[in-house]
Amino acid sequence: MDLKMWKSDTVTIKVDYDKCQGHGDCADACPSEVYELSDGKTVPVNIDECVECCTCVETCPEGAIDHSACG
Ligand code: SF4
Ligand code: SF4
Repeated sequence: MDLKMWKSDTVTIKVDYDKCQGHGDCADACPSEVYELSDGKTVPVNIDECVECCTCVETCPEGAIDHSACG
């Protein structure tokens, strides 16, 4: 496991970079354009814009995303 972590005032997003394949489903699905791809991995660069909808967690086919608002 290669767990990366980002925090805003309200949420924490963790992505396991061992699982992330960088195909960008999360970036395409997020309604707030939170994610960008960098070097083949997803990065929640706009985490402050997160509306806690959990779409990214549900969309990732690798189960790579852990979100504090999404059980
Ligand atoms: S959908 Fe999952 S595997 Fe694909 S880029 Fe996003 S976090 Fe990585
Ligand atoms: S929970 Fe929703 S708004 Fe927040 S990063 Fe995931 S898809 Fe985007």
